[in-house]
Amino acid sequence: MKIKRAIGLELMPRLRPNLPGEEGRGKREAQMKSTTRAVVIGGGIAGCSTLYHLTQEGWADVVLVERDELTSGTTWHSAAQVTNFGMNQTMVGLKSHSIALYKSLAEDPDYPINYHHADGGIRLANTEAQMEGYRHFASMARGMGVNFEVIDAAECARRHPLISTENLLGGLWDPLDGDIDPAQLCQALARRARKAGAEVYRHTQVTALTQHKDLSWTVHTTKGDIDCEVVINACGYRVNEVGAMMGVHHPVMSMEHQYFVTEPIRQIMDASHRMPLLRCPISDYYCRQEKQGLLLGFYEQDCKTWGMDGIDPDFANALCPDDLDRVTDVLEGAFARMPVLMEAGIHTVVNGPITYTIDGTPLVGPVPGKRNAFCIIGLRAGLGEGGGHGWLLAQMIVHGEACYDTWCLDPRRFTGHGNVELTALKAIEDYQNEFRFHFPHEYRPAGRPIKTTPLTPVLASEGAEFAVVNGWERMAYIKPSADFRETHSFRFNETFDLVGDEVKAVTTSVGLSEISGFNRIEITGTGIHDWLEGLFCGRVRRQTSKVGLGYMLNHLGCVKAEATIANIDDNRIWYGSAAAAEYHDMEWLKAHLPEDGSITLRSLTNAFTTLVLAGPMARAVLGEVTRLDCSKEGFGWLQVRQGFVGIAPAVIMSVSFSGEEAFEIHLPNNQLYAGYLALRRAGEAHGLRLFGSMAIESMRLEKGYLHWKADLLTEFNPEETGLGRFVDMTKDFIGKPALEKMISGGPRKKLVTLEIDCTHAPSHGGASVSRDGNVIGTVTSAGWGYRVGKNLAYAFVEPDMAEPGTRLEVDVLGLPEKAVVIAPGPYDPDNRILRQKT
Ligand SMILES: Cc1cc2nc3c(=O)[nH]c(=O)nc-3n(C[C@H](O)[C@H](O)[C@H](O)COP(=O)(O)OP(=O)(O)OC[C@H]3O[C@@H](n4cnc5c(N)ncnc54)[C@H](O)[C@@H]3O)c2cc1C
Repeated sequence: MKIKRAIGLELMPRLRPNLPGEEGRGKREAQMKSTTRAVVIGGGIAGCSTLYHLTQEGWADVVLVERDELTSGTTWHSAAQVTNFGMNQTMVGLKSHSIALYKSLAEDPDYPINYHHADGGIRLANTEAQMEGYRHFASMARGMGVNFEVIDAAECARRHPLISTENLLGGLWDPLDGDIDPAQLCQALARRARKAGAEVYRHTQVTALTQHKDLSWTVHTTKGDIDCEVVINACGYRVNEVGAMMGVHHPVMSMEHQYFVTEPIRQIMDASHRMPLLRCPISDYYCRQEKQGLLLGFYEQDCKTWGMDGIDPDFANALCPDDLDRVTDVLEGAFARMPVLMEAGIHTVVNGPITYTIDGTPLVGPVPGKRNAFCIIGLRAGLGEGGGHGWLLAQMIVHGEACYDTWCLDPRRFTGHGNVELTALKAIEDYQNEFRFHFPHEYRPAGRPIKTTPLTPVLASEGAEFAVVNGWERMAYIKPSADFRETHSFRFNETFDLVGDEVKAVTTSVGLSEISGFNRIEITGTGIHDWLEGLFCGRVRRQTSKVGLGYMLNHLGCVKAEATIANIDDNRIWYGSAAAAEYHDMEWLKAHLPEDGSITLRSLTNAFTTLVLAGPMARAVLGEVTRLDCSKEGFGWLQVRQGFVGIAPAVIMSVSFSGEEAFEIHLPNNQLYAGYLALRRAGEAHGLRLFGSMAIESMRLEKGYLHWKADLLTEFNPEETGLGRFVDMTKDFIGKPALEKMISGGPRKKLVTLEIDCTHAPSHGGASVSRDGNVIGTVTSAGWGYRVGKNLAYAFVEPDMAEPGTRLEVDVLGLPEKAVVIAPGPYDPDNRILRQKT
């Protein structure tokens, strides 16, 4: 390859060039408003998209403030590829929105913009496991009306004539893949927003933020103050400068990221069509056509964080120094795939900051711990996704909820552990694996462990393999030997029998598990039940020592949260929910507290850990370590007691997620090990075994129990989710009017349990369910039910296909397999085990 020595000097724009047609350039800024509804801070794609969509959702009195020119952060130098590919339906849906929006902007005769729509793109694969993953993602996308194709190597080469098929199995074809002019895109969005009433203030830097008692904000800028209801942080790599102004640290880290553009290439000039885009998880690069040459971007292993210790205030419209030496490993792979690159001269090199989060997905939604503050940050593919993120965020701001469940984007999914150091490690790992999707049960090693309990090392020494749940290390299963490694796959793998054995132990004798990070909130005060009554859609259990399960709805009548309510004493409740819900649920409860201070909330999540003792011998084991009455009569199902486990003080609940007789034992962390030892010793005589979250997952599927954010989604109401028995329409609760209306219109979808007629692989969340080849639903959870010997899945399907006995097809590894709707909870459907009836 010919590398021009002039790289970065004559040819590369060190500073962003002036943009022809830049909206408002050279004109005087409009008089700045002193009051508005919402202030969007930052004029990159994130800010411009949010501003535009706020106007579309009905808020015209909104402004955007930008410290420099629009697009002067990362946006101007983006490679600006726009793919439809996503790892879940929310991501696919929001990308579809981007594509449709960008197309309409490109076709606007008043302000057409350059958008190479539908050049097509290929994600390459050289292993069968990757191909199976692509088939699953294609199935998932089908449910969103998006048609990807999984093609073989020869077909890849037919569609992209410049690639070699060496070490290639095939790939996933995205027909709508393309690229767009990033600056024009932002100008077009700002232009439309202005037309709808919004205002844009350039060269206006936000210097401070003040929140008032009424939860409104004053945004202090270099040009004066603006009072507003809502602020939105869209500051790209400067996210934490503005975050600090409201006392928040966001888990966002910038990485240096490079691409180069080649001189014109003869084969491209001679081709009869534009080259499709390429994304390569084998050698970590992407490539698209740029004019008559190629643009090649790198995700090198030898990568670098950027701006970790602060960012030069003058870094605007700017780039980092080129460093092509860093990417030689990637270049070799790219050359092997596209030999034509070896002959091409480099025209331009671009190296700029790109933001990453802990899990690679942006943070779009409410700022944790703040009211009336939102963010749209950590975008690493912001050009492709920005249209959709701004759309969903504007819906959240204006309507309180978006059309899709946005938990995968919600900034509250990280609960305090996203510090700078962890974010940097995860950002590096994610960057190094940019195009390598996570397999089921794959938890990558960087930044682990971050959240542990005193028991984590003990369980590790017992052979535990851990999953990561909201940062917590959680025992997934016990390995048969120290060097055991599972093969990550969409199929059943080597863990199948191990998990089956754990289920068997729980079913026939007794098992012990740790649920690290389980979310608990202590609710104390007067009138706590009356208060909860207004939040939960069903009757709240009030009797002391009793435990109940309930659901909270949003004002749209859809499922917001699930919690157990344990009445420890008359004025003290323990609220328990999923580990991931820690911030989410606390914020929801806090937002609805009575103003008179009569009720207090206290998080116990980091102070206590939950052990689960489950199985027919659980009661006997518990009876040996506590002086509490553990008889069936004295401690029946759904009750709570305070006592001791050995010498450790404990709150014990007779609740079960496995369907076996079980006790949740909540222990203070400093006495967790003491309680654990007591249970292990007492359990020895009964054959007690450890079991992990994979066994729990299997057993809860057999019982028809649901998981928050897998099966419990803000897209569906409780009737549609099969939770009608938890709704009491004779009382008032948040969301009731909307729910009433929805119920009168009939269900839009229904959650069903399916038995799939195959044994080689489970289905996976997102897979399509069809009837006669037409997609009629989507899988939410799936897995093997060891006790019933069935391949199970939950899915939302068309209401007229929800009756048990209905024959459907469920995609497994992306291919349709025969399935039948069965009644939910096939294991012990009458709860005879839990009710202690023989
Ligand atoms: C080399 C490279 C290639 C890329 N290729 C692609 C690609 O092919 N496809 C894709 O989808 N994405 C790509 N990306 C990523 C994409 O460019 C970014 O995700 C996107 O541009 C981020 O936009 P943003 O609006 O979040 O941030 P930015 O564009 O950085 O905008 C933030 C704005 O906030 C302003 N601001 C900051 N602080 C303040 C303040 N205090 N007051 C007022 N304003 C403030 C800044 O001046 C800036 O204009 C690439 C990135 C890089 C670096």
